[in-house]
Amino acid sequence: MLDYSIFGLSNEELNKIRASRIYSISERVSTFFWNTDDRPGFEEREGQQDMALEILDALKRNQHILVEAGVGIGKSYAYLVPLLLYNQAYRKPIVIATSTIALQEQLMGDIDYLKRQLRVSQNVIFVKGQTNYLCVKRTEEYLNNKNADMAEELSELLSKKCQDRADIKVSIPPHIWDQICVRYGRGRRTCHHRCQYRDTRVLIRYTSEIVLCNQDFLTVHLLKEDRLNEGLLNPGTEVIVVDEAHNLENKVRSVTTERINQSSLEKMIEEALYDVGSDARPQVESYVQAAAKATSNFFQYLRGQVQRQITESPQNMKYADRFFFKKEDPKAISLLKQMTGTAKDLSEEIQLLALFGVRSSSTTIGPDGFHEWADRLTDVVETLDDYLLWIEKRGNLIEFVHCPRNTKEIISRLYFGGSARTILTSATLTNSSTGSLQEQYS
Ligand code: SF4
Repeated sequence: MLDYSIFGLSNEELNKIRASRIYSISERVSTFFWNTDDRPGFEEREGQQDMALEILDALKRNQHILVEAGVGIGKSYAYLVPLLLYNQAYRKPIVIATSTIALQEQLMGDIDYLKRQLRVSQNVIFVKGQTNYLCVKRTEEYLNNKNADMAEELSELLSKKCQDRADIKVSIPPHIWDQICVRYGRGRRTCHHRCQYRDTRVLIRYTSEIVLCNQDFLTVHLLKEDRLNEGLLNPGTEVIVVDEAHNLENKVRSVTTERINQSSLEKMIEEALYDVGSDARPQVESYVQAAAKATSNFFQYLRGQVQRQITESPQNMKYADRFFFKKEDPKAISLLKQMTGTAKDLSEEIQLLALFGVRSSSTTIGPDGFHEWADRLTDVVETLDDYLLWIEKRGNLIEFVHCPRNTKEIISRLYFGGSARTILTSATLTNSSTGSLQEQYS
C-alpha cells in the first residue's frame, strides 16, 4: 500500500482515501456473496453478507466487533472474504485463532478456496504447537545412540528436511516422537540449525500477511506483550479474529493457570545460569544456590502439607490429587515469598549482567522462561488475594498451582485493550447465565 502521508495529505484527506478503499472492498464483498453463478453449489445464506459488511464497517470505524451468528450462516466465509481483501489492500498483519487444530485445518481449506475465488495471493502461515515438529538437534542426538530405533527412516526425514508431523508419512511411535520433537530446553540456546519450527517462529514475527493459530498460542502472545515481554507474533498485528470464541474463557483460564514443580524449577534455575557468559558464572553462583535452596524448602513444606491433609481428613484421601494450599499458614506464605524473592534476585542479577554485556550470546528462540516465571510469581505473591492457589499430587510429583480469579478482566485487557482490532465470533457467545457481551467483557 502507498503511504499517502508522505505526500503531505491531511488527516481528513487520508480518511477519505481509506473510506474509498473500504468502499471498493465492500463492493467486492457484495459481488462475491450475490454473484454466485460461477460457483456451482455455493448457496446464498441469510445474514452471511450482512456479517461480512458489519466486519468491514468495524474496520472502517476502527472498532472491535463481537458477532453471534447461528450455526449454518457460514461465519468463516463471512469474515474471511472481507479480511482477505482487506489484507490484500493494506498488507497489515491479521491473526486468526480458533480452538482446535482440526478447525485450523478446515479454515486453511476455506482460505485456499477463497483465495482462488477472490484472486488474491497472500501467504497464510499455519502455526502449530512445538510437539508437531521434528527437532533436528534432538533427532541427531537420538541417532547418536547406536541402538536407536528407526534410524534409517529418521535419517531420511533429516535429509529430506521433512519436519512437520502432518507431512511425515512413516508412522513414528509416541515414545520415539517424544524424544525427537521440539521441546523447549537448554540445547536450544546453542543450536545453530535452521529448522521448520524456528523458521516459522521467525516468520510470524515479521509477516504482514495472515497467521492462523490456536487460541492458546494467541493468548500466550498477548500475555507476553501485556507483561512487556517480546511477543510471539508481529507486534504490529492490526486485526485479531477469534473464531469459536465461546471457548475463549476456558482457553485463557487454562493458559493463565500455571503448575510448577521442584524439578522443573531446578532445571529452570540451572538453565538461567547459562544466560551468563562463563566468566561471570561464579558471580551468579551464590544466587543460584539461594534460589535452589528456597525452592527445595518450599516444596518440602508442600509435601508436609499434603501429608497432614491426608492424615487429618476424616475421609480417605490417599488417592486424592488436589489439596489446599493454606494461605492462612504463615510458614507456607513465608517460604513461598522466600522462593519468589531468591528467584527474582537471580533473575535481576542476570539481567544486570546483561547490561554490562556479559550475558551469553544466545541463539534461543521462544520464551526466556526463567525471567518471565520469576516476574509472574512475584505478581502472584504481591496480589495473593487475586489468585486461586492449590497443590496437586500425581504419584510422587507435587505441583504448586496458581490461577488468576479475574479471567474476564484478563480477556478484556488482552483482547480489547491493545492496538489491534478484535473480531470475536461464535454461534453461542451468550446465554442466560453469562449475560450480554457488554456485561461480560466491557
Ligand atoms: S532451533 Fe530449536 S527446534 Fe530447531 S533444531 Fe534447533 S533445538 Fe531443535
